[in-house]
Amino acid sequence: MDKLLEVKDLVVEFPTRRGVLRALDGVSFDIAPGEVLGVVGESGAGKSLTGAAIIGLLEPPGRIAGGEIRLQGERIDHLPPAQMRRIRGRRIGAIFQDPLTSLNPLYTIGRQLTETILTHLDVTPAQARQRAIELLKDTGIPAAEERIDHYPHQFSGGMRQRVVIALALAAEPQLVVADEPTTALDVSIQAQIITLLKRICRERGAAVMLVTHDMGVIAETCDRVAVMYAGRVVEIGPVHEVIHRPAHPYTAGLMRCIPDMEAERERLHQIDGAMPRLNEIPRGCAFHPRCDKVMLRCHDQRPNLMPAGATHAACWLHEAATTAAAEIAR
Ligand code: SF4
Ligand code: MG
Repeated sequence: MDKLLEVKDLVVEFPTRRGVLRALDGVSFDIAPGEVLGVVGESGAGKSLTGAAIIGLLEPPGRIAGGEIRLQGERIDHLPPAQMRRIRGRRIGAIFQDPLTSLNPLYTIGRQLTETILTHLDVTPAQARQRAIELLKDTGIPAAEERIDHYPHQFSGGMRQRVVIALALAAEPQLVVADEPTTALDVSIQAQIITLLKRICRERGAAVMLVTHDMGVIAETCDRVAVMYAGRVVEIGPVHEVIHRPAHPYTAGLMRCIPDMEAERERLHQIDGAMPRLNEIPRGCAFHPRCDKVMLRCHDQRPNLMPAGATHAACWLHEAATTAAAEIAR
């Protein structure tokens, strides 16, 4: 598979007065050009941190303490800030939960769009403005020729998030990292925005990493999905497989919680127990205190991702199958 983004054994730590907290502990996955990868998990699993590490916006004192992040084969995990800013503008676009964090309230949206376009693309100011208008039209902003000269506060929440999508795509990035892009919006327009994001990225050939806690959104939008738990990816695979034939007991629990995707998309089923705090992550498989399939070795041996049917899962239940397959291959 052609790889656009590769994340390998990523470790993110936060030094605290009482020691170092490991928030991500060996996160690995990749994204192909044009692919939509969903990242799902309960809050605190490390989804947003993974996104922040990729776009070079970890909040200090958080730091990348191990592993690597590659964009088209090139390491981007320890670049100087100026270089990372260039990548973030040009090759990776970012969309956050609250549109207001991405927009400057003091400038018209036209100015923000054209500045981004002029910084990263080789065009004249008049061409940049034309592009900005087209982007706004593409994202469904009515009367784009006029509204381009409006300020962020003159838009509704949903319209603002459309502007943010336009801004994230202004420099024609190869990858868009979207962190809960619809959570702050009215439920009635969430689906519209997600559909828009998917369509506009597809048309432009941009890959998407979509961070969300909403399995319904993942099911409707993504090609593949990565499930995170306690700072690691515990299962990754084609979205249909992960939903209908989950290989990891945690994923299976999560999936039981979508009784009816239409009616109850917000309500994640409660698996007994809670995700551990960062300073109390159990030895072995971090899920073992909550797992109904727990075995002896799960208490002290930590599983890495291994082939599990059509997906990959970090669970010892699949090791026998892996070994058997290896023996047949021999
Ligand atoms: Fe459960 Fe063991 Fe698999 Fe962890 S490794 S999910 S504890 S069976
Ligand atoms: Mg988050």
